Amino acid sequence: MADLVRVHGVGIVRQTLRRLPDGRYTVQAFGEPADLAPLAGAGYAVETVEEVAPPGLGTAEGGAPGGRGPGPAGYMDVEEVDRRLAALAAGPDGAVTELIELPRPTWEGRTCRALRIGRGPAPGRPGVCVLGGVHAREWGSADIVVGFAERLLAAWRGKRGITVGRRRFTATQVLRLVEEANVYLVPQVNPDGRHHSLTVDPMWRKNRRPAPRGAAAGDGTCVGVDLNRNFDFLWDFTAHFDPDAPVACSAEPCHPEVYVGPEAASEPEVANVVWLLDRYSDIAYLVDLHSYGELIMYSWGDDENQSRRPTMAFTNADWDGRRGRPDDDYREYIGAADRRLLVRLATKMQAAVSAARGRTYRVQQSMNLYPTAGTSDDYAFSRHLVDPSRTKVLAFTVEWGAEDNPTPFHPPYDEMVRIIAEVTSGLLAFCGEALRIGVPDPPPQE
Ligand SMILES: [Zn+2]
Repeated sequence: MADLVRVHGVGIVRQTLRRLPDGRYTVQAFGEPADLAPLAGAGYAVETVEEVAPPGLGTAEGGAPGGRGPGPAGYMDVEEVDRRLAALAAGPDGAVTELIELPRPTWEGRTCRALRIGRGPAPGRPGVCVLGGVHAREWGSADIVVGFAERLLAAWRGKRGITVGRRRFTATQVLRLVEEANVYLVPQVNPDGRHHSLTVDPMWRKNRRPAPRGAAAGDGTCVGVDLNRNFDFLWDFTAHFDPDAPVACSAEPCHPEVYVGPEAASEPEVANVVWLLDRYSDIAYLVDLHSYGELIMYSWGDDENQSRRPTMAFTNADWDGRRGRPDDDYREYIGAADRRLLVRLATKMQAAVSAARGRTYRVQQSMNLYPTAGTSDDYAFSRHLVDPSRTKVLAFTVEWGAEDNPTPFHPPYDEMVRIIAEVTSGLLAFCGEALRIGVPDPPPQE
């Protein structure tokens, strides 16, 4: 299976990997026709799900259904996201909002911004960070984050509750969320990539770091880093993982999907997220929105979890070269109490998503046959283990949207509106549970 990525150079949607009853595996993959054609000859059974025609999927002007923003198919473009964030910060909700400019401009010179909803850090007041748009082609994440902010603030201003399907959040719950927590929203972590995906190549995933000197100009795949492989968690996968582990990372700058970058946190977009976590040490929860697969995933992503041997952990170099293979000796340590909290939060989110219109987002550990390194969620959760003076951040990756959607990375906007609603419901329940838990205790000393 790892050969799909390494040898054949096709992209795989890791979270769609399934073991079939007959012992074979199935996974959704994508690539140029020239890359996919040889697979059948190499022994894979290939079935075409969707043909994507660049550069666009139809524009709002072209009559795409349900369009809400000026981008293709009704999605918000980069400027629209900024405009609506700024409107929330400058409008009647200014007393409980702050627009935070993140310090590092992107490679194309854009400024990334976060919106804080809440009255600001105070002792015992938990911060919840929601990231969107780390991956360029997952257009709907920015729309979800902005939609969540607008709905929450409108309810707070009107002293109203929020109803999503069968789920009702009372006016008191809305009030408490705004008054007693802080929510930090970053709708487009990767605005350069979003812009490129919206205007040139809908399947673009990485940022827009210029290609290294000497790289073949060719088709442009030597541009960009996979930001969700660039965070400082087991980043140097060639040193930390078993050489045979099917780790979904590449050290090859021209890999079109999962190039990890020249060094950990080399990318300005990643440095901005790190800065946010450093600067706002009240952040104790993080949700990174991705698509697709209807999943709510919690740490760890590098190997299966275990709670018996604290020394069998990413912090212990004695295990370098041994990580990332399922069903072997190495498993990543996670405290049993932390694991319970992660599952509790994920389950609350799952129930609230389901109450919106009945979709079930599966709760699972990130490591699911395929290991990862350098992801935002594992990095956020690892911070307090590397440096005990840092806040423990309980972190999640959500993969919104169904894999049987005809255009799963860019659902028709009518469907996207329903996804925005169900994820908003999930995030509201998640924040409510974070309020109940408060700022989690330091990890137990075992
Ligand atoms: Zn993603």
